[in-house]
Amino acid sequence: MNTSPTSGSHRARGFATVGAGTLGMLVLVGLTAPWLSPYDPTERVGRPFSTPSAAHLLGTNDVGHDLLSELIHGARISLLVGLVAALAATVIGVSVGLTAGYLRGWVDTALMRFVDVVLALPVLPLTIVIGVFAGPGLLTQIVVIAAVIWAGVARELRAQVLSLRERDHIQALRTMGAGTGYVLLRHVLPAVAPLVVPQFVLATKTAILLEASLAFLGLGDITAKSWGTMLSLAHARSAFLTDAWLWWVVPPGLAIAATVLAFALLGYAFEEWARPSLRDSGAPRPGVSSPVTTSPADPVDEPPPLVITDLTVAYRSARGPVTTVRGVNLTVAAGELVGLVGESGSGKSTIAAATLDLLPAAATVTGGTVRVAGHDLATLTPEQRRALRGDRIALIPQEAMSALNPVRSIAAQLAEAVRAHRPLGRSAARRRAEELLHLVGLDAGVADDHPHQLSGGMRQRVVIAMALACEPAVVIADEPTSGLDVLVQAEVLDLLDDLRHRLGLALLVVSHDLPVVERIADRIAVLHEGRLVEIGDARDVACSPRHPHTRRLVAAAPRLRPPVAAP
Ligand code: ADP
Ligand code: MG
Repeated sequence: MNTSPTSGSHRARGFATVGAGTLGMLVLVGLTAPWLSPYDPTERVGRPFSTPSAAHLLGTNDVGHDLLSELIHGARISLLVGLVAALAATVIGVSVGLTAGYLRGWVDTALMRFVDVVLALPVLPLTIVIGVFAGPGLLTQIVVIAAVIWAGVARELRAQVLSLRERDHIQALRTMGAGTGYVLLRHVLPAVAPLVVPQFVLATKTAILLEASLAFLGLGDITAKSWGTMLSLAHARSAFLTDAWLWWVVPPGLAIAATVLAFALLGYAFEEWARPSLRDSGAPRPGVSSPVTTSPADPVDEPPPLVITDLTVAYRSARGPVTTVRGVNLTVAAGELVGLVGESGSGKSTIAAATLDLLPAAATVTGGTVRVAGHDLATLTPEQRRALRGDRIALIPQEAMSALNPVRSIAAQLAEAVRAHRPLGRSAARRRAEELLHLVGLDAGVADDHPHQLSGGMRQRVVIAMALACEPAVVIADEPTSGLDVLVQAEVLDLLDDLRHRLGLALLVVSHDLPVVERIADRIAVLHEGRLVEIGDARDVACSPRHPHTRRLVAAAPRLRPPVAAP
């Protein structure tokens, strides 16, 4: 037996051949109708109700029109109405689907509710009602048919755009500040085009069938007869009661069936081809989307997620600029935990803020660079930096209670953090929120609690979960355990340690308390008056500090765990 993709494409090719062949013939008949048909279908050329003869191969109708000529000309009208209506429906459906899927938010909600309503309405009765109101005619048919079939196209397209939107290159464009219209027309539309083609073909199939139904119900144009109109008249003139159905009813019926079948076969073939190509046009990310083109390449080639080089930051003050961070060099590798310690006012929070591009207005980076996931912050636009924040780099803030909104549930706040960067629906965001709670060791049951119902340690875990919502590469924790009692401190620190190993985070833990970070850090950097005075292996820095300032820090704080060689 063949494997399924191969047999799928074989089947698709068979479908396409039969469909295209049939359709080609029908289109040819429609195009050459004036020359192909033996008579003018609107002229009385024979006796009414003639049976088939050499002169009239399919006989004549009740007024003596040649039925074969009507059938040949009918191809034009049926195909024309079907194609134009399907084209209109596809254009509307694609526009709505792209807009809703790409913009999301309330636009998406409003458009999709409308689509749901249209899809929920029974097509044929709706078509009849509108048709009866608008009166018979080709234009009415086109408008009515387009009005009922665009919604299916919109829904299909939206689903594709939603997933496409998350692809790295589209994210990168968005974070580069490319306009919505530009991204939609130049990147999203071409990417979904393979899907638009089968949608259009299948819409045409539906449109032709609907046209026949409308025409049969007398809503066609009597001066431009389609196959449906022929059937309608045959029915009205009681052709079904005599042998006339054989030449008056069966040929247009077969023609409709053949056309619908041809479009259906072609549509399915295109669909079969389009789906793999959509799948291959960008492999889904391994869990994380990044706004930047960090291909999961050789880890050796990859720069560390956080690289701070010669960072210098100054605050404006009444007495002129005051430099508070001076030439700091610091890198944090994936999976590494670096502790940044220093007494209060040494510039730790300023470094953290500069890394997150969250410096207060009074502060400026006066020298050096910060690279997050390979991106020099200085070269990014504010919008790109905003997109990076929360997505590639996240902050675990100092005060869990003040970082949480007291009047919203934990789940709502987690979902909000997820949806800031991911187009998840309500229930998917809720699932992700529960997943995150589980990740930080909390029971999913706290999801519906409010912050005041949780202990300090639990709140700190929630804040950690929020930072991890979008699977960042770099996490900065600024005094993550301040305000917690010692036992809870140890728990939270162990959680951070565990998470960076499990998630491969580059974790920078800022603390004024050297023993706190010594417990979990691989390396410790000691900051004094804005300068790094010592950096090295955590154990070396803590146990045999070289710089006098580090010695003071070691001596200043009580240890969580007494040193092995205590005197
Ligand atoms: P740490 O987090 O290590 O306690 P900070 O980074 O908060 O230190 O502060 C470093 C220095 O920058 C301090 O001397 C402080 O006075 C100064 N500073 C912090 N914020 C401001 C500000 N908004 N305006 C002026 N100076 C500031
Ligand atoms: Mg601080």
